[in-house]
Amino acid sequence: MQINTDLLHKIATAATRHLDDYLQETLTASAEHGNFGMQMLDQLHEQLPRTSCDDCGKCCNTVSIFSLEYHRLIREVMAIWPPERLRRLIQSAFRFDLRQAEVGNEKRLRCIFRDDETRVCLVHAVRPFACRFFGLLKESGIRECDKVKDLHLPETIITQEYLTSLQTKILENSEAYQPFPGEEEIHFFPFEFWFFRYIFSPERALQIYREILVPMSSPLTQLWQKYDTQATRE
Ligand code: SF4
Ligand code: SF4
Repeated sequence: MQINTDLLHKIATAATRHLDDYLQETLTASAEHGNFGMQMLDQLHEQLPRTSCDDCGKCCNTVSIFSLEYHRLIREVMAIWPPERLRRLIQSAFRFDLRQAEVGNEKRLRCIFRDDETRVCLVHAVRPFACRFFGLLKESGIRECDKVKDLHLPETIITQEYLTSLQTKILENSEAYQPFPGEEEIHFFPFEFWFFRYIFSPERALQIYREILVPMSSPLTQLWQKYDTQATRE
């Protein structure tokens, strides 16, 4: 899958010209969303085991999240960050080119909330489910990262059934879109998809997803390779 470099360039240029407008639109969309679902989301987060790890940041690449989680993140930073810091966040969301990285032997887009200098997640208290699931002890007895440790013993095994039951509650309160024509609707998209969905439109966000985000991330490319193969044949 090839990155649409024209679109990438257009987005970077748009950010330099209209950054304050985009900041305003981002904050307005999440303010208008309101507190709906936020308490439930926080309570669901609390139901997962607390863990520690080495904080190396290798796994802090843009993660797929629900729309409800997107608003939770924006509402958190708009409540506690000063305007200049919010501006830098919005700028970073537009600059895919500055966040692309090789992680292991994969292409990844680094998460805008990871501060590599201080080795912290800037939104740790409200980080999405995808970040919280990573490294938990699964039924297979395996963790995706062996540096993750449960803070309370005995260790908790997280079953797929349990994860699905938690996610279903969020899913019922989140938006869904069809990522590629002919595919089913999904509720999980990278942070950047939701960001562009609220400042541009769902159509523009889907184009950015297909033509920039998917080719920029090896796991997403592998996930959607079948669609690319099919489109090439047609
Ligand atoms: S979970 Fe593992 S890969 Fe991710 S930051 Fe912690 S130690 Fe690094
Ligand atoms: S939200 Fe935080 S924990 Fe999740 S990927 Fe970003 S920096 Fe890492």
